[in-house]
Amino acid sequence: MPIRVHDTLSRTLKPLSPRAPGTPYRMYCCGPTVYAPAHIGNLRTFLIQDILRRALQADGTEVLHVRNITDVDDKTIQRSLSAGASLHAFTTRWTQKFHADCATLNLLPPHIEPSAVAHIPLQIAMIQKLVANGHAYTTPDGSVYFKISTCPHYGQLSHLDPATLRTQATNSAGATNQADEYEREHITDFALWKARKPADGPNHWPSPWGQGRPGWHIECSAMSTHYLGNTFDLHGGGEDLCFPHHENEIAQAECATGQHGFAAHWFHSMHLLVDGKKMSKSTGNYHTLDDLLARGATPMAVRYALIAGHYRSQLNFTFNNLAAATAALVKIEKATEKLLAQNSLTRADFSPMTTPEKTTAWGAFQPAWDTLRDDLNIPGALGKIFTILPLVTNPGRTPAQARADLSGLANILYVLGINLFTTNATPDTTIPDSIARLGERRWHAKQSRDFATADILRNELAQLGWQSIDHKDGYTLTPVGT
Ligand SMILES: [Zn+2]
Repeated sequence: MPIRVHDTLSRTLKPLSPRAPGTPYRMYCCGPTVYAPAHIGNLRTFLIQDILRRALQADGTEVLHVRNITDVDDKTIQRSLSAGASLHAFTTRWTQKFHADCATLNLLPPHIEPSAVAHIPLQIAMIQKLVANGHAYTTPDGSVYFKISTCPHYGQLSHLDPATLRTQATNSAGATNQADEYEREHITDFALWKARKPADGPNHWPSPWGQGRPGWHIECSAMSTHYLGNTFDLHGGGEDLCFPHHENEIAQAECATGQHGFAAHWFHSMHLLVDGKKMSKSTGNYHTLDDLLARGATPMAVRYALIAGHYRSQLNFTFNNLAAATAALVKIEKATEKLLAQNSLTRADFSPMTTPEKTTAWGAFQPAWDTLRDDLNIPGALGKIFTILPLVTNPGRTPAQARADLSGLANILYVLGINLFTTNATPDTTIPDSIARLGERRWHAKQSRDFATADILRNELAQLGWQSIDHKDGYTLTPVGT
């Protein structure tokens, strides 16, 4: 059975196999808009896509992974102008920062990473096709708009109700839609090419319609079909891109190429919450990778904390989760050390795959791999690893079994992108206030012989990665596994 994941278009779990046998699995993922450091919500989306790619490769599927860089749009232009930098210098700086963050988090680089600015002629060619075949029209100022009413399938991906779909050229105020991002209730024909405006500063390019710049959506249609063909296997992105960006990508690509089935599979991952709330700078819960590293988290703990929720559920990121991730990694490392020691092996014998390749060597960790293959169930696979670790560190295993288990563990960790023994730093065991309060309540419940409450609180602590070790007249709180 091939790996299967959810497809937004059909709303079903669908197997992932290349459409054309013998060809690589072709996946296109919308990349970052490079005007600031990526926040942890963006990084989570890229991490999930990274694990999907690793899983496909470990399953024996060759993957061709394309992820673009958006280096021309409303935001990059506005921010570069206010920073007094050229668009190129400004976006190069943030592209480099993005690459550094990805390397820190152990993301595999995409095979092709096209930049929007470097592909403007390609975008113009697609817009010309859309104008020529009646799917787009020009306005007197030299802009070009996509005519939604000419695309009968418009709204399918984001499940818009065709009966209420508004397809006029202007909104109720009579204005055309120049914005790259807008809400469902503001659907109107959207911009493919934006005529030069004073606010764009020096950022304009020649086109058959005069000086201007492309709209945001056209870059992904033009570059994905250029590198992967008119139809390809999978398109990925964060759930917020489903509408309007991906809806518009389908409309542009299918109307330009005349072929339906632009992407066979639409893979969206849900965004994370921080402390139960939507992340925003005004709420004070907006985090970048550097913020978390500055608080003493290791890159692997950040990776673990960001992948620990299912891609179809909202992940609630908290600092307690990050502490739990640190503790979980320590636990895996300790079990691995034990497994090595039992077999007179050293850390050097624990060699995770360095290049993606098909493997069937899962040892006792086969159930973790099987769980991961079914709807990319990362939290389920992590749970299985913790169930299996005590079994494989049992002294009753034969040396052959132990070696097979060690390979299985290395392989499943490779697919999850988790590197062990990357730091000698001892984990930060500062006890967060919330954990200290839980520990105190549990101790008092136990002292009052309210064992039911004490048990509930002990479980709550365990879920957050902490345990309470009781002594004669007190207790100590430590991360689980230490
Ligand atoms: Zn895109």
